[in-house]
Amino acid sequence: MNWISNVVPPKIRSLLTTRREPPDDFWRKCGGCGQMTDKKALEQNAFVFPCCNHHDRVDARARLKQLFDKGEFTVVPAPEVPLDPLKFRDGKRYTDRLKEAKARTELADAVLIGEGTLEGRAIVAAAQDFRFMGGSLGMAAGEAVATAMDRAVEKQTPFILFAASGGARMQEGVLSLMQMARTTIGVRRLKAARLPYIVVLTDPTTGGVTASYAMLGDIHIAEPGALICFAGPRVIEQTIREQLPEGFQRAEYLLAHGMVDMVIHRHKLRDTLARIVAVLAGSTMATGKRNRGRTSGRLKANGHLNGSALDGKAMEALAREGNAMIEPVSDDERFETRKPEGRATTTRPETDKGKTVPPREPS
Ligand SMILES: [Zn+2]
Repeated sequence: MNWISNVVPPKIRSLLTTRREPPDDFWRKCGGCGQMTDKKALEQNAFVFPCCNHHDRVDARARLKQLFDKGEFTVVPAPEVPLDPLKFRDGKRYTDRLKEAKARTELADAVLIGEGTLEGRAIVAAAQDFRFMGGSLGMAAGEAVATAMDRAVEKQTPFILFAASGGARMQEGVLSLMQMARTTIGVRRLKAARLPYIVVLTDPTTGGVTASYAMLGDIHIAEPGALICFAGPRVIEQTIREQLPEGFQRAEYLLAHGMVDMVIHRHKLRDTLARIVAVLAGSTMATGKRNRGRTSGRLKANGHLNGSALDGKAMEALAREGNAMIEPVSDDERFETRKPEGRATTTRPETDKGKTVPPREPS
C-alpha cells in the first residue's frame, strides 16, 4: 500500500496509476516478416500485410463480405446434424469443444453459406472458417457444403468455395470421412447441372478436404503462399527422411507443377472471380449444351495452359514476386467484365506495376 491507494479517491487514482495502453488485440504480427501492423489497417487492406504481402487468414464472414457486391449477402442455413454420436472424448469432451468454437466464432459450424450477387450476377458461395476447430470437415460442415451446392443447382447459379481446413474432423471418426464422398456427389450434381464450380484454396487447405471437394473444381485459384496438401510437409519429411525443397506444397509450387490454375493476390481475387464467372456462366449456362467442346478450345487459345508447355521454375519465380502478374494471360488480353463507369480504371496503375502494359486512359 502506498499513499496513492490510501489517500486519493478512486477516480483520480485510476488516472494516476493506469497507463492508457492499446487493447491487447490492437496489433497483429506478420507471419511473413514479423513486422507489426495494426488490425484496423490490416482489415482495410483485406487482411494482407502491407510490409511483405503476406496473406493473413480470413474468417468465413469477412471472406463472404469481400466477395459479394457491397459486402451484402444472405446466409443460407444448413440443416442440423446429430451432435457427437460417438460420445468422443480426448483431453476434453467433443461437445465442449464444439460449444467453445461456436461461442468464439459465432458460427454454427466450420462452413458458412451465403448467396447474393457478384458484379450483378447471382451466385452461391461457401467459406470455411479455420478458427472453428481448424475448419475441419465433420458432419455439419459436410452437410453445409452439400447444401450450398444443392442451393446453387436449385437457383441455377455458379458456386464459389473458399477452402480452409486442417482436414477431416477426427472426433467424428468414420462419419467425417463419409463427408468426402457426400461432397463429391454434390460436385457431380453441379457438373450435371452444367454450373461452374470455382474453388479458392486458402491457407491452409489440407487432408480430407484436399482429397475431396476442394480439388474437384472447374477452376482452382490459390492465394499466395497458401499451404495446399494432403499430408503436411512435416509428416512427409519424417516419413521419407529427406529434406523437402523450399516452398514445397505452397501455392506457387503447385502452380509451377500444374496442380492449380492460378495464384491470385487477394486484392485482385474478386475481379478475377467475377471475370471467370462471367466467362463460364456466359458460355455454359446461357447457351447450354450447344457450346460443349468449343468452350474449352477457346479457353486454351486464351492461354489457359494449366502446367503444360510452361517453364515451371519461371512460373514459380513469377508467382513469388508478390504483386507481379501471376496468371498466364496478360491484362489486356483478358476478358473484361462489365463494370460501372470509372471503377475499372482506379486500381490499374498499382496492380500493373513492373509490366510493360501502358496504363489505360480513362475513356
Ligand atoms: Zn510482412
